[in-house]
Amino acid sequence: MIVTRFAPSPTGFLHLGHAFAALTAAHAGGRFLLRIEDIDGTRCRPEFETAIYEDLAWLELNWEKPVLRQSDRFGAYRAALDGLRAQGLLYPCFCTRAEIAAEVARAIEAPHNMSLGPEGPVYPGTCRYLGDAQRLERMAGGAPYALRLNAQKAADRAGALSFQENGAGPQGEQGAIAVDPLLFGDIVLARKETPASYHLAVVLDDAFQGVTLVTRGDDLFAAAHIQRVLQALLGLPAPAYAHHKLILDETGKKFSKRDSAVTLRTLRERGATADAIRAQLGF
Ligand code: GLU
Repeated sequence: MIVTRFAPSPTGFLHLGHAFAALTAAHAGGRFLLRIEDIDGTRCRPEFETAIYEDLAWLELNWEKPVLRQSDRFGAYRAALDGLRAQGLLYPCFCTRAEIAAEVARAIEAPHNMSLGPEGPVYPGTCRYLGDAQRLERMAGGAPYALRLNAQKAADRAGALSFQENGAGPQGEQGAIAVDPLLFGDIVLARKETPASYHLAVVLDDAFQGVTLVTRGDDLFAAAHIQRVLQALLGLPAPAYAHHKLILDETGKKFSKRDSAVTLRTLRERGATADAIRAQLGF
C-alpha cells in the first residue's frame, strides 16, 4: 500500500506549484496524508493553515484526518536529538552567522578548504575542533548554540547507503541513487529558536506517519541524500522518492509565496474553477 503526503508550511497562501505537488501526492494511489510543517513559529500563521485546508478542499482533495502538525512533535524531535547526541554524532556550534560568513570568505581564498553544498558553502567545521572543556565552559556561560551533525562520523556510522528514486531527479536521476553523506557537510539539526531542523523533522515524521513514497519538487532532490543518512542513524525505514518537475512562472522562475497573482485563492476569486486548475496542471 502506497502512503504519500503533502507537507506545506503555513507561511503563505498556496499557489499553483503547491497545487501540482498536492495533486501529484494524492494521485500516486493509496493513502494520502497531509502534514503541516510549522516548526518556524516566527513565519507560520494560523490563517495560512486554515487557507491550506480550504484550498485543498476546493481542489477536491481528500486527506486522512487527523492532520499531523510539526509543532505538536517537538518531544519526538528532542528524543531523536538526544539519541544522536548519545551516539557522539552531534556537537554544539557557537558560531554566529556572521562568523561563519567570515570563515567562508577566508576559505574562498584557499578553495581547497571549502566545499559547496546544495544550500551554499558548507560549514567550515570551526566548532568541531573545540574540546569538551571549552564546550562546557561556553555552555555554562550561556552562549547560544546550534547542534550540528558530524557528517564524517555519521558517514562512518551509516556505511554505504542509497535511496530509491522512482521519479526522476533534476538531471534525470532514477533508480538506486548512491548517497553522498558529506554533501551538506556538518548540517544544523537544531537551534535554540528552532529546536528541530527541516531535515530532522521530515525523516521522523515520514516514518511516524508510515509514508512509503515521498513525492515533492526537484528542488528537494539533494535533500534525499542527508535525509537517507538521518533515517539510517535513527533506525527509521527508508521511503522511496518521486521528485517531480517544478511549476514555473512565465519567466521560468519558481513561484514565490509573495507572488499573490498565482495563489489559488486569487485565481479562484478571478473565476478559475478547480477543474480548470487541475486540467492546467495535467490532472
Ligand atoms: N515543507 C516543505 C516545503 O514546503 C516540503 C517538505 C518535503 O516535502 O519534504 O517545501
